[in-house]
Amino acid sequence: MIHLSPDLPKYQAWRRRMVEQLRERGIRDEAVLKAMGKLPRNWFCSDTLLDSFLYDIDMAIAIDCEQTISKPYTVAWQSQLLSLSPMMSVLEVGTGSGYQTAILCEMGGRVYTVERQHALFRKTKELLASLNYHAKCFLGDSFNGVPEMADFTYDRILVTCGAPEIPSGLMQVLKIGGIMVIPVGLEEQRMLRIYKEGEKVSQWRVEDHGDAKFVPMLQGKNF
Ligand code: SAH
Repeated sequence: MIHLSPDLPKYQAWRRRMVEQLRERGIRDEAVLKAMGKLPRNWFCSDTLLDSFLYDIDMAIAIDCEQTISKPYTVAWQSQLLSLSPMMSVLEVGTGSGYQTAILCEMGGRVYTVERQHALFRKTKELLASLNYHAKCFLGDSFNGVPEMADFTYDRILVTCGAPEIPSGLMQVLKIGGIMVIPVGLEEQRMLRIYKEGEKVSQWRVEDHGDAKFVPMLQGKNF
């Protein structure tokens, strides 16, 4: 049984302020703002000592396995770049705490999510199910998509860890006409939005949306 800490009135007030700050920072996608205004973040971070940071839009918070739940601003920014419409299929790489996964579900996406850390995969899968989110969770490194979903292609792909380069195996499972949002780079990462206009690399239109900072996208599963 998963114990959910209550969504206290002070959290609700902080969340309203967070949404206002996201608007001031340029987040315009109403579906993103609505989802983030609704979803309690404390359900996804177990350390209640971090209370006052929960809705700080610039604060990433540690979760298990030395990973982090992205800053609210980053979640909003990536979600907005994704241009997600309801009923689209979306693959998230890096389930982590499940917060971003739940936001994509709230936005009406049909969500598939992959995590390489076994402990996080197990815990977050259970949490999302207990919150009634129908995201399908997989354990793997997703450099080539999801082996259990062979031949399936996605309308959108959102990568929440920093890839060394654009993973061509992942591009293969993006539909033509689809969009991938991915931080790329070794020392310095850039947030890229890639429009797949055809199968050939020359038909991938890449937009650079500026600096990014994510934990690295690593190979293999970790037990
Ligand atoms: N979306 C998450 C962010 C978690 S941080 C959230 O909202 O909490 C990024 C996550 O990506 C980490 O949990 C890390 O273990 C995972 N990760 C790193 N490389 C990966 C890979 N190749 N495939 C899947 N997950 C990966």
